[in-house]
Amino acid sequence: MSLNEISFAFDNTYARELDGFYTPWQGAIAPNPKIVVFNTTLAQELGLNAEALNTPAGAAILAGSAAPDGATPLAQAYAGHQFGHFSPQLGDGRALLLGEIIDQNGNRRDLQLKGSGRTPFSRGGDGKAVLGPILREYLMGEAMHALGIPTTRALAAVTTGEQIERDGPKPGAVLARVASSHLRVGTFQFFAARGEFVRVKQLADYAIARHYPELANQDDRYLAFLSKVVKAQAALIGSWMHMGFVHGVMNTDNMTISGETIDYGPCAFVDSYDPLAVFSSIDRNGRYAFGNQPGIAQWNLARLAETLVPIVDPSDRENAIKLVTTEVGAAMEIYETMWLAGTRKKIGLASDEAGDTELIKTMFAMMERQDIDFTLFFRHLAGSQETVNAKLLALFSNPKEMENWLQQWRVRLGRDGQNPKQRSVAMNRINPLYIPRNHMVEAALQAAEDLGDMAPFTKLLTVLSDPFVQQKGLDKYTTPAPDEFGSYQTFCGT
Ligand code: AMP
Ligand code: MG
Repeated sequence: MSLNEISFAFDNTYARELDGFYTPWQGAIAPNPKIVVFNTTLAQELGLNAEALNTPAGAAILAGSAAPDGATPLAQAYAGHQFGHFSPQLGDGRALLLGEIIDQNGNRRDLQLKGSGRTPFSRGGDGKAVLGPILREYLMGEAMHALGIPTTRALAAVTTGEQIERDGPKPGAVLARVASSHLRVGTFQFFAARGEFVRVKQLADYAIARHYPELANQDDRYLAFLSKVVKAQAALIGSWMHMGFVHGVMNTDNMTISGETIDYGPCAFVDSYDPLAVFSSIDRNGRYAFGNQPGIAQWNLARLAETLVPIVDPSDRENAIKLVTTEVGAAMEIYETMWLAGTRKKIGLASDEAGDTELIKTMFAMMERQDIDFTLFFRHLAGSQETVNAKLLALFSNPKEMENWLQQWRVRLGRDGQNPKQRSVAMNRINPLYIPRNHMVEAALQAAEDLGDMAPFTKLLTVLSDPFVQQKGLDKYTTPAPDEFGSYQTFCGT
């Protein structure tokens, strides 16, 4: 397969329109690039020749070693608040935007390589990534996508043939990832922090054209843009909270303008419901705990809002501050409304009643008190509409409390209109059976990194690609970690 059969119909607006927002750059040479996972379905969705790309020549491109025709590899500039502290210059320290592709549905998608070597933004880092964290991002992103959560996607994971030093030598790797864009809250912060508001405006217009084109001709488009990002993020965080997902490092550079989940580092799904759940080894104060995510998202949106003040109303700063404060102030209520609507669906309600809030509150309090597995509780609820499902019962050490709640729930279902069968189908379509269980993820990554055995990873990836339909022989993918797994700690993907 020759290089010219691997063609990408790039159309690079970021490179063309945003001069000064990036540094043109080339990837490091990978000594022996090999594709270890390849996403054929996504390649096809992007209109790429999957067969041509999934080859040694394709591996060199996906590792960043060879730039295909039409690529304008570049490292993007961004800043960010990390754990509340502002860093004026972060940027793509180990990533390159290869270019943009219009996919088969007419949507513009970024193709980015992560782990492709040092750039002018690398600071003290080596610009590299290792296989375990690259596969983790691949798996988590694809699992999130299958769960219906907006996210960046993984096109391929490639080993570079290099050994990288991380607590001992590890196989070097590059992730080829796809995003509707890589615009972050931190991209706006980069230029705002330098007082470059002409650039903030240029960036906002670019973001509007790309993500919210319906606003392009509005006079108040920057305020309307903020409002769109607030809603997109409220919806995103709502979907995380509905699935038990903890991002782990919600710094402003890891929050997108599009509303997609980005940068899977120390993330994990909770087993038992716990608003205080933290997995990341570096999150010592629980800033990014499961239950804190909506509040943190709002805090991050306030940082975005600050960057927009000078362009929302250039003639009246006080007025601009008032306007953006109102938008950000509404975030929590928007989130709560979305969250409540989604939670109603999770417990099978198609109608709204004022008392539902109390019913739901009681349910979560009970789950927290009894350490109930978040995923299995909702999954087994559908089968407990008339008599309690044995699997639901088995989750409780004090089943009496659950029986009481089920009684209240059934009374409420009685006023809800749907028949039990319909309701079961609807519930099981949104309450997954298969999520990336922490012990399964670790086992798959370890087999890949330590033994070069991709089989457990490939199997897990397949199971997670269809999370709502129960299949025979997959019971081990449904259970929480055994006690001997201990409390789970994740590390930033370096
Ligand atoms: P992250 O925690 O992966 O979201 O990255 C935060 C910042 O650190 C970004 O600017 C990254 O580009 C940079 N970074 C992370 N790891 C490395 C590395 N190994 N080499 C250079 N820069 C890195
Ligand atoms: Mg990041």
